[in-house]
Amino acid sequence: MLATAKADERFSILPEIAAKNHMLPTDLLGSCRTVVVFFIPFTPELANGNIEGKFASDEWGQSLVLTNNLIQDISEFIRGYFAEYGYRSVLTPATYNFFPESLTARWSHKHLAYLCGLGRFGMNAQMITPAGSAGRLGSLVTQAVLGDNPLVTVNELCLNKAGKDCLKCMDKCPVKAVTQFTICYTVKG
Ligand code: SF4
Repeated sequence: MLATAKADERFSILPEIAAKNHMLPTDLLGSCRTVVVFFIPFTPELANGNIEGKFASDEWGQSLVLTNNLIQDISEFIRGYFAEYGYRSVLTPATYNFFPESLTARWSHKHLAYLCGLGRFGMNAQMITPAGSAGRLGSLVTQAVLGDNPLVTVNELCLNKAGKDCLKCMDKCPVKAVTQFTICYTVKG
C-alpha cells in the first residue's frame, strides 16, 4: 500500500517531531513536488514467529535483508515509471540511515508515513497502517505532481490513543521495550 503527499510546508515539522537534523524533501531534491511512502506488510505467520522466546525468529532476520532488496526494487520501479514521463526522483535507503549514538534518523520513513497519511503512531512508537504494523516502509521524493493521497485520515489508529483500554504491546513485549517512559515519550512526541 502507498500514500503520497504534496512536498509542502507540512514537512517543515520534521526536525521538531523526528530529529533536529532531519532532512526536508527539498534537501533531497530541490524541485520535488511529492513525497511517496509505501508499506510492505509481513504475513501474520512471520510476525507470530516472534512470540516465543526473547529473540526475533531467524525468518524475521532473513525478511529484513530480503525486504531491503524488495524496497530498493519497488523504489527503482517507481523512479523508472516517473522517468518515462520526464520526472526526476531521488530514492532513500531502506535502513541504516540512522546515527547509532542518538538512534535518530535524518530520514525517518515512519514520520514521513505519518505526514503522508499512510498510518498513525501506536503507543509502542510503531507505525500502524491499515495493513497492520508488522512490515517495512520505503519512501522517495519525486518531481511528479501526485497531490495528497492519504490512506488514513482519522487522528488515531491505536486503540489506547483513541481512548479505549489496550496496552497489549506493553504487556506482551518479552524484553519490556515498551515501558511507561516510552509511552510518555510517544504521547508527547
Ligand atoms: S496500545 Fe494497543 S492498539 Fe495501541 S499500539 Fe499498543 S497494542 Fe497496538
